[in-house]
Amino acid sequence: MTDDTPHIASMLAGARTFPFWRDSGDAPRPEPEQIGATSADLVIVGGGFTGLWAAIQAKEANPAQDIVLIEARRIASGASGRPGGIISTSIMHGLHNTVRTFPDDVEELERLGRENMDAFTATLTRHGIDADIEWSGELTAAVSARDIPELHAEFELHQRYGHNVTWLDEAGMREQLNSPAFHAGFWSKDRSGTVHPGKLAWGLKAAILKLGVRVHELSPMLRVESQGDVSVVHTPHGQIRTGKVLLATDSWAVSDPIIKRRLTVMQDRMLATAPLTREQMSKIGWPNRQGIYDTGSQLNYFRLTKENRIIFGGHLDYYFNDAVEAEADRRLRTYYPLVRHFLSKFPNLEDVKFTNVWGGPISVSSRFALQFYKSPKENLVWVGGYSGFGVGASRFGARLALAILNREKLPELDLAFVRRSPGYMPPEPLRWIGAKLTTAVLDDVDKKGGWRRAVPAALRLLRFPT
Ligand SMILES: Cc1cc2nc3c(=O)[nH]c(=O)nc-3n(C[C@H](O)[C@H](O)[C@H](O)COP(=O)(O)OP(=O)(O)OC[C@H]3O[C@@H](n4cnc5c(N)ncnc54)[C@H](O)[C@@H]3O)c2cc1C
Repeated sequence: MTDDTPHIASMLAGARTFPFWRDSGDAPRPEPEQIGATSADLVIVGGGFTGLWAAIQAKEANPAQDIVLIEARRIASGASGRPGGIISTSIMHGLHNTVRTFPDDVEELERLGRENMDAFTATLTRHGIDADIEWSGELTAAVSARDIPELHAEFELHQRYGHNVTWLDEAGMREQLNSPAFHAGFWSKDRSGTVHPGKLAWGLKAAILKLGVRVHELSPMLRVESQGDVSVVHTPHGQIRTGKVLLATDSWAVSDPIIKRRLTVMQDRMLATAPLTREQMSKIGWPNRQGIYDTGSQLNYFRLTKENRIIFGGHLDYYFNDAVEAEADRRLRTYYPLVRHFLSKFPNLEDVKFTNVWGGPISVSSRFALQFYKSPKENLVWVGGYSGFGVGASRFGARLALAILNREKLPELDLAFVRRSPGYMPPEPLRWIGAKLTTAVLDDVDKKGGWRRAVPAALRLLRFPT
């Protein structure tokens, strides 16, 4: 076997270890730090999609409400500035996972997911946010002929629940993407596609500033102190007194021992190519520009940007004690395995260069979907744990977290996913051993031509209750 390392190193030469989405002169200047003592009706901690969607929904519902949003670093510097940016209606990590985890609520969760994506789109229109959305649909592609029966069953499941889906045999798949890696696929066409996450976050930030939300960047919450019905949120140079706190800190909440019991943090990695030339585009086809996931257990997902870069991600890893920022993400060598996956899907793009590579935290719960933590008085709520499927679902999570804080009687708050918490995750070092075994099992399943349903199966094998 020839050593491919020099070639991979040359493809990565000069790549910046920084998210492509935020690597732009269009990034807005940061808002000033929170300094001094103040008060607010609602404090939102975290300026990713959950925090931004919470701010916009809270302010639109009640414009008189005084809202402060604090972000430890810059807006969208967490997972929200780093995703693949594939969006879909599912609020529970896909239809198959919805059926697996909440079989009694599938119809209702499907309806809520459609409603969420319609409201997502309407908000962008209302505020004139241009986030390069392409409603091109999402396509799931089989990496092995052995995956076809299960993929077809998933296609039928989508049909049963009224999704506008098209089955693609091998030739049909080739018409959508000229890659030898795929044997079949199905294309789900409605309310799904791709978005530029940076532009989305910056557009939401501009909208909440215009609505009068006070935003402070570089202002980490150090602690929150309970004084009866009032909470005091402490930052390095100030304090905010408030009746309600929404913690929109997703993976970072793993530093809280209570939340950590039901949440773990994996690292996922991304590559961005230079814009493809016309000739490179004609080699790969991709006329309908869908967001694509494959059926690998360590799945890859990829999409095009407006200027025809390929954004390519996948291959989860775990670092001891749920490290949210992995030092390894700053080394180009870390991305060599992902480049090999890229070349297996795009062998005719071996001359392409990568401009950006980056990693990011994926907050995972045993049920692969959002969860809540509520303080005993329900005046502090954390929502997160979207398990790598949160660009759209974060709007929904934020809406429900606000409803809990506002004591609204929303029917969805009676559904099992709110009433029931996900299963416990084991403590360290068992967590590290379990995660490493799981990723090893998944790699092995892939080598043998596996299927991504092995993920929940592996978790069950390791006795993580779902
Ligand atoms: C590599 C990768 C690829 C992904 N691909 C997709 C995809 O294609 N489609 C999809 O739907 N989802 C995807 N996701 C998941 C999606 O990005 C997340 O689910 C979503 O962005 C979570 O948003 P959030 O606001 O809850 O969390 P985050 O964006 O992580 O925001 C949390 C914020 O809280 C801040 N914070 C933390 N602690 C404090 C503190 N003490 N004080 C103040 N601020 C604090 C952090 O700095 C951060 O900005 C991907 C994620 C990653 C990492």
